[in-house]
Amino acid sequence: MKALICVKRVIDYNVKPRVKADGTGVDLANVKMSMNPFDEIAVEEAIRLKEKGVVSEIVAVSVGPAKAAETLRTALAMGADRAILVQSDDEMEPLAVAKLIKAIADEEVPGLIITGKQAIDDDCNQVGQMLAALLGRPQGTFASAISVEGDAVVVKREVDGGLETVRLALPAVVTTDLRLNEPRYASLPNIMKAKSKPLAIRTPADFGVDTAPRLTMLKVSEPAVRLAGIKVADVATLVVKLKEMGVA
Ligand code: AMP
Repeated sequence: MKALICVKRVIDYNVKPRVKADGTGVDLANVKMSMNPFDEIAVEEAIRLKEKGVVSEIVAVSVGPAKAAETLRTALAMGADRAILVQSDDEMEPLAVAKLIKAIADEEVPGLIITGKQAIDDDCNQVGQMLAALLGRPQGTFASAISVEGDAVVVKREVDGGLETVRLALPAVVTTDLRLNEPRYASLPNIMKAKSKPLAIRTPADFGVDTAPRLTMLKVSEPAVRLAGIKVADVATLVVKLKEMGVA
């Protein structure tokens, strides 16, 4: 079975994002970019399924600028077999990404598609669900365990009250949650090997997909600065202070 894994190049999770002075977005100039952490988990899960003999080939796909090829090389260094970059410098909304990945899936016909549950830059949590809907395939979101059993995949899902287990007929779409696994680091020899693995470059025009934005972003602003805390002598003073602040 072929696995298609979606990986997005995002601002590194250790970086404190700065909002542009004109409020039009986050400043990405000279900022460290990395693979979306949930996508690392997706790549790792596919590799584990390959090590178990369930998956025969892992194809990593990314939609983004030329530099997203670096993110795909990371997926190849971790253990993906080949990669496809749908190259575009345009801002892509989740619907556009989902349509492009659907077009790739129509060509590649994977048994399993794994995406992250959300990209940590836009926090949309939409691509996996939209992709499943566009493909007409079952979806298992927020997976904390996956096992392929014959022609189905059993997904343990993290829901508010605990864990829900669902059985999806393959082909299916699964989105990863944090506790699914701990992604491996790519070893130096594998980073070197990844340089010669196949990486195909496509464009949205190849698939005739309209990627024009459907949403208008009004403003991006910094979160409100938290006020420094104060120490109070006793509960009575605390109540007085809370009343003064209008919270009691
Ligand atoms: P989102 O719906 O934007 O929060 O993204 C959810 C997941 O969809 C991510 O974790 C990725 O696996 C996938 N995804 C989102 N955007 C892209 C992209 N530009 N290229 C490849 N995969 C993406």
